[in-house]
Amino acid sequence: VVTMAGVGKWYGDFKVLKDVNLDVRRGERIVICGPSGSGKSTLIRCLNRLEEHNEGRIVVDGIELRHGMRDIDKVRREVGMVFQSFNLFPHLTVLENCILAPMKVRGTARAEAERTARLYLERVHIPEQAGKYPGQLSGGQQQRVAIARSLCMNPRIMLFDEPTSALDPEMVKEVLDVMVELAESGMTMLCVTHEMGFARKVADRVIFMDRGEIVEAETPDVFFDRPASERTRAFLGQIL
Ligand code: ATP
Ligand code: MG
Repeated sequence: VVTMAGVGKWYGDFKVLKDVNLDVRRGERIVICGPSGSGKSTLIRCLNRLEEHNEGRIVVDGIELRHGMRDIDKVRREVGMVFQSFNLFPHLTVLENCILAPMKVRGTARAEAERTARLYLERVHIPEQAGKYPGQLSGGQQQRVAIARSLCMNPRIMLFDEPTSALDPEMVKEVLDVMVELAESGMTMLCVTHEMGFARKVADRVIFMDRGEIVEAETPDVFFDRPASERTRAFLGQIL
């Protein structure tokens, strides 16, 4: 469902992505890790065109991402994204946050959108918070709302950019548990995270990025136990 072939990107004269090649099959779970500044966020932001690449090809769900393309909204509808900062609308309740995009973008009727929203709030284990405002929730709860809100659009692919790194330690697990359940439901997922327990448990492949390059892309067993690259070993030595 995702193809990146020879993808390069610059910020000014700084090359942030270098010859990135990646194929993701439907239902595959990819974990991306690597040092700060290595291009992880840029890579996944190119997949829903929050950033534009400058070289190579990116195809998402059958649509090639091109300069000046018209059907970008079609791509964005199919690709959900969850950020480090939860990015909820503070002046809307949890339920309203969840029904906004389905009503506005997909044209779903309110009753139907609410039914779907309650279903997903249940799936992330906070159905009782539907009437609250984001500011009344813990960080872990807000992040679970953000996940539910994305799922309400019924995306085919979910992107996560360090979804647990802004959370207090005791809230990390409740968000990871939801992500594990989502992975087990068959969702195609690309997750930037340094939660290596999560990677071992659900990833089909773990990717290590360094200085804009994919240095290693392996199954968790190989990645953690016998990585080929010295840079991967050094990185794992620091974080494990
Ligand atoms: P982190 O782990 O800190 O989130 P990352 O791997 O996600 O890092 P990116 O955010 O993709 O890294 O950034 C890669 C590099 O590109 C960094 O050196 C960053 O300073 C630079 N960069 C990111 N966004 C921009 C921008 N909009 N303009 C210029 N440079 C940028
Ligand atoms: Mg980042």
